[in-house]
Amino acid sequence: MNENFSTFHHLECASCGQRFAKTEPLNLCPLCHQPLFARYDLERAAQLIDRSSFAKRESGLWRFHEILPIERPENVISLGEGGTPLVKANRLAAELGFNNLYLKDESLNPTGSFKARGLSAAVSKAFELGIRKVALPTAGNAGGAAAAYAAKAGMKAFVAMPADTPAPFLIECEQCGAEVERIDGLISDCAKRVAEKMRQESGWFDLSTLKEPYRVEGKKTMAYELTEQFGWSLPDAIIYPTGGGTGLIGMWKAFHEMEQLGWIGKERPRMISVQAEGCAPIVEAFIQGHEKATPAKNAQTIALGLRVPGAVGDFLILRAIRESGGEAVAVSDDALMQGVRTLGSTEGIFAAPEGGATVAALQTLKETGILHENERIVLFITGGGAKYAELF
Ligand SMILES: *Cc1c(COP(=O)(O)O)cnc(C)c1O
Repeated sequence: MNENFSTFHHLECASCGQRFAKTEPLNLCPLCHQPLFARYDLERAAQLIDRSSFAKRESGLWRFHEILPIERPENVISLGEGGTPLVKANRLAAELGFNNLYLKDESLNPTGSFKARGLSAAVSKAFELGIRKVALPTAGNAGGAAAAYAAKAGMKAFVAMPADTPAPFLIECEQCGAEVERIDGLISDCAKRVAEKMRQESGWFDLSTLKEPYRVEGKKTMAYELTEQFGWSLPDAIIYPTGGGTGLIGMWKAFHEMEQLGWIGKERPRMISVQAEGCAPIVEAFIQGHEKATPAKNAQTIALGLRVPGAVGDFLILRAIRESGGEAVAVSDDALMQGVRTLGSTEGIFAAPEGGATVAALQTLKETGILHENERIVLFITGGGAKYAELF
């Protein structure tokens, strides 16, 4: 046992601030039912590692193990997630009238999306805590990632997904050994089915995003990687396609940790959230100045990962956008599908529609003067397009 593998210290409610021991499997805060965050002994972490430690290590998410919640290396369930390229997108930039555009290409993750990061961390931690059965609702990619990591861990997975999800998402889950149910409705209806399953049968643990503390930890590594790839400096803006907001919340948390570690200063990128016009609760709340979002009615979009009518962490997403001086924009399905084509034909990356949404948003943000041509901007290409092929 290497007690320096992780500096994970305790859990803390993101809303009421109450602390909880890290040894119990917990979902939401037992007191106020809001998301829990993992907190680290960052003073000790700063003694164990510095910014230059990582370059000497194997690429990937687990090079950041001191600031991840898994305490024994043998509990890490990995399929090679993270370590994705930061691509300078010169042809796309020229097309859209920018000079410093970058793509964080998350389509190269196991199972084809950045959901691999969150689920590698969450399944590893569940395994470490003795859990052997995990359940979750999915809009698409989370199910496949959960099924894959559960298989690798020798655990059971139960996945509930909307019945209209394209076949490859379903087949991926099944071929990775998960029990899958197709539900008439949206991810919110799938969440109800997961809750019911857990009442009917004992031993299942709910891996819904932000209803457990560790998917955020996996996704926060995108910010550590990005900052390292920029030579420990930060871009001016990050454009992030937002469903549950796990990655945006995770990255915002990571910037705070990096400041406490002494690796960056007070500067932050502007966090820009993109949603689809057919389901834009965060954009509406941002415009109206609300602290929390009102769930979207009749949510509909081709960008499945954005078809999330109500996010558990809505107040955390909105807080990060506002504290960063960011923005929230909605784009039409036509515009985001055009974004996929523009990205593919200029940069050779066949993105998921959610990735196309960042390209569409960038056009809007240029026209409205919110982003300028010389700013250093990162688009998060959160997944690959192949599983969505029948929607094109
Ligand atoms: C899930 C998903 C999103 C949304 O991610 P959140 O962090 O939950 O907001 C975006 N793009 C793709 C491809 C996804 O699978």
